[in-house]
Amino acid sequence: MSNPTLPFVSQSEDQERKRWVKALSAEMPEENIVMFEDLSQADLEAAKVAIVADPNPEWLKSMPNLVFVQSLWAGVEKMMAEIGTAPYEVVRLEDPEMAEKMAEAILAWVLYIHRDIPTYAAQQRQKIWRELDHTPAFGRRIGLIGLGKLGARAAEVLSGLGFSVAGWSRSPKTIPNVDCFHGSDALHTMLSTVDIAVCVIPLTSATRHIVDEAALAAMPKGSKLINFARGPIVDTTALLAALNNDHLAHAVLDVFDEEPLPLTSPLWDHPKVTLLPHISAPTNRQTGSKIVASNIRAFRRDGTVPASVDRVRGY
Ligand code: NAP
Repeated sequence: MSNPTLPFVSQSEDQERKRWVKALSAEMPEENIVMFEDLSQADLEAAKVAIVADPNPEWLKSMPNLVFVQSLWAGVEKMMAEIGTAPYEVVRLEDPEMAEKMAEAILAWVLYIHRDIPTYAAQQRQKIWRELDHTPAFGRRIGLIGLGKLGARAAEVLSGLGFSVAGWSRSPKTIPNVDCFHGSDALHTMLSTVDIAVCVIPLTSATRHIVDEAALAAMPKGSKLINFARGPIVDTTALLAALNNDHLAHAVLDVFDEEPLPLTSPLWDHPKVTLLPHISAPTNRQTGSKIVASNIRAFRRDGTVPASVDRVRGY
């Protein structure tokens, strides 16, 4: 019997798609992974599962028997908005390696702020030799907005290094050495206690602009913000106002309303902004392919569909 056809549905750049098909095929030699544009009508009709990365939603409509689609990305808000009420399940990539990568990025940029690197870099440019006051890690309060797969691991790493850590989620959590807050009323309470707030929460209708003027005002004067989640989690106009009126001291931004960030954006050369090109936790092709392979294999074996995105919650 020939290998089953497994559609790969992506609008990514050609080289990128080829690299993925190669890595996925190496992990699933029993599957015949085929780019969407090379599928026959019979393949389209037979497909029960597909691998997706920024798929064209119209293409997905031509596969009427899909049971689930496996995304190669952790954040699937764009796809969820585009596919509407499509009858198949959406499975995002949940890779422990990505949680490590994000924890590493959060640690790197928390240390960057904690050790006053933006100020020392500015002093160097002005040839100023001046020592700033030191704050011990236990005296620095980090607040994670989102305590899911990525936020919870970052909380563990930061508390392991002695930082004072708080976190906020929708449902209650218990994480050793982390002050856990939950529910919409508790966000501002947590923010009022932090030196550095870190966004690591999915973009949904409930979280769009969750860091708005009121949330920023709840943060103590001189505090800092890191956004490693999605651009629209933060209201950029409110953020710029808070930086310009010296309420907020610095922002590290990896994600934006529009990417690449337009050259006209005032964020590019804002002295209190450190800007990154959406690099905090990229998918690892090798470990990601192994996880996708194990999900597809379980489905082929007995129809198991991995935990999927909750349509009502939006993540
Ligand atoms: P996750 O496991 O689904 O966790 C999401 C967390 O957010 C959970 O703690 C959840 O609460 C909380 N949450 C969601 N909606 C909420 C609401 N309305 N109020 C309060 N808390 C809410 O997601 P993840 O894997 O940690 O990933 C988080 C996001 O990071 C992704 O969606 C993606 O957008 C972003 N990301 C960015 C990059 C990058 O390179 N910049 C890379 C990977 C991921 P509960 O625990 O109660 O459900």
